[in-house]
Amino acid sequence: MESVQVEEDAVVFTVGSAIPAATCPSCGTTSARTHGGYRRRLADLPISGRPVRIDVGVRRFRCDDPGCGAATFAEQIPGLTAPFARRTAGLTDRLAAIGAGAGRPRRSPAGREAGHASLPRHADPTGPRTAQAARGGIDGDRGR
Ligand SMILES: [Zn+2]
Repeated sequence: MESVQVEEDAVVFTVGSAIPAATCPSCGTTSARTHGGYRRRLADLPISGRPVRIDVGVRRFRCDDPGCGAATFAEQIPGLTAPFARRTAGLTDRLAAIGAGAGRPRRSPAGREAGHASLPRHADPTGPRTAQAARGGIDGDRGR
């Protein structure tokens, strides 16, 4: 854990993995040779009703197996990141459980609504915008 910052609209955790090596997803070789990295933002379960963002420092590793097709690969942090995900595994599970899960087809057929990029963000609470979906969905069970 590198830092926690409470911002106006979210709690932001800045984290990085302390594991010294990662396993190549293509060939299973373990590598400790880092090759740069990047930051990923993930939405996580809210804290006290406030949306949570996790700013993850993801390292890239160089695969040591000369026969492997993947020259470099990004580490995955189990339970937190998955390739290309925009939310943590926990939040994805939660959203699925309350029916606002990822990948649900939008109800409107092609046409009017689809073309309206400028619609207000609350117009479609089941849409793909993670923070909006989380806020609307999770707030509903705050009184437990
Ligand atoms: Zn490999």
